[in-house]
Amino acid sequence: MSELTDLSWKRFIPTLNQRPTQPPLDRDQQQSAYEQLKQSYFAERPPVPAFPLAPAQELKLSETQQLQALRDQMKERGLQMEVKEVETRLEEKKTADTVKQFYCTHKFQTVNAKFGILPIRYKICSKCGLVK
Ligand SMILES: [Zn+2]
Repeated sequence: MSELTDLSWKRFIPTLNQRPTQPPLDRDQQQSAYEQLKQSYFAERPPVPAFPLAPAQELKLSETQQLQALRDQMKERGLQMEVKEVETRLEEKKTADTVKQFYCTHKFQTVNAKFGILPIRYKICSKCGLVK
């Protein structure tokens, strides 16, 4: 069967010469149909639920930050001995960090920042936190 004699495409032509299956709409019906179509096209999207997409993350302070917070708390409460103790711990932590940086086989990661307009590239060691 050649393309010229195949007439099966004719069934895709809309039924022009057939009788209408429903009566014509009056003005109010047209308007209500139009409103329905409009609402179906521009339907409001349901609000994005915040919780399952962005669960609350637990904030973990570093050891130094924890010690500083503890020192401030002790100062507020007027506990002089504990303040001194925590400060010695802080000094120890500082020396430990310095020693750690000295023996670290640094693995630097570039971090892009901006100082006013100027772009700055920091390099921070991911192991010990040394800034280059
Ligand atoms: Zn390092």
